[in-house]
Amino acid sequence: MIAVAVAGAAGRMGQAVCAAVEGAEDMRLCGVADPLLEKTLVDVLPHADVLVDFTQPDTALANALTCIGAGVHVVIGTTGFDLQALGEAAHAQPQPRANVLVAPNFAIGAVLMMRFAAEAFKHMQKAEIVELHHDKKLDAPSGTAARTAELMAAASGKPPPPIHSVRLPGLVANQEVILGDLAQTLTIRHDTVGRESFMPGVLLAVRRIKELSEPLTVGLEALLFDED
Ligand code: NAP
Repeated sequence: MIAVAVAGAAGRMGQAVCAAVEGAEDMRLCGVADPLLEKTLVDVLPHADVLVDFTQPDTALANALTCIGAGVHVVIGTTGFDLQALGEAAHAQPQPRANVLVAPNFAIGAVLMMRFAAEAFKHMQKAEIVELHHDKKLDAPSGTAARTAELMAAASGKPPPPIHSVRLPGLVANQEVILGDLAQTLTIRHDTVGRESFMPGVLLAVRRIKELSEPLTVGLEALLFDED
């Protein structure tokens, strides 16, 4: 059994993660941390093999550094924070180390959208990204859009495409990558209609994090595609 603690457990994503962990036969929910529950990371880490963090951009880094200090693997879904300091801390650890996996999007369809968009941008002149999310989302552009633009630029050698952010009630998470060329366009679109869409990816990351060869892994791709 993998002992899993959840930070941000009272939040929208955190509640879904707690339910998914409780429903997984090979996992045990060993602790929940959230200001609303009056429980901190320090309360839950001693019992955990893996911490899952779905908190806020201004707390995710400190939470991850605390996990590294405690030797607890950490799966991070929180978006909108700088990964550089996290990478430095992850690489500076003594052995045995805690692994860190950060994924801007745990939905398999979104990971495929990013991959297809990167491939398409090699062959089409221009592109723009439109990301649409619920109006409680704190960061803009979304972590998924920023990562898509980064992957498209890396694959093509062109500057990253512009990103447009829409925030409206009624939405969960959607993204369109529109590519344009002579007398044609190609649209690659991913729609999330419920937070359950992220859970298989989160559980996969929890199951596999201790095997990862790098101290910091960004994106779910390394777990989904053999060649990555
Ligand atoms: P949310 O509903 O605001 O939940 C965040 C929760 O974390 C809140 O209950 C918050 O408490 C709590 N929190 C804040 N600081 C904390 C700390 N230091 N320790 C423990 N808990 C803390 O937000 P959400 O919609 O669930 O989204 C959470 C994050 O996940 C966002 O960054 C979002 O962009 C990201 N996300 C990622 C994916 C993915 O696939 N990677 C998918 C969806 C969302 P208070 O409200 O009291 O501050």
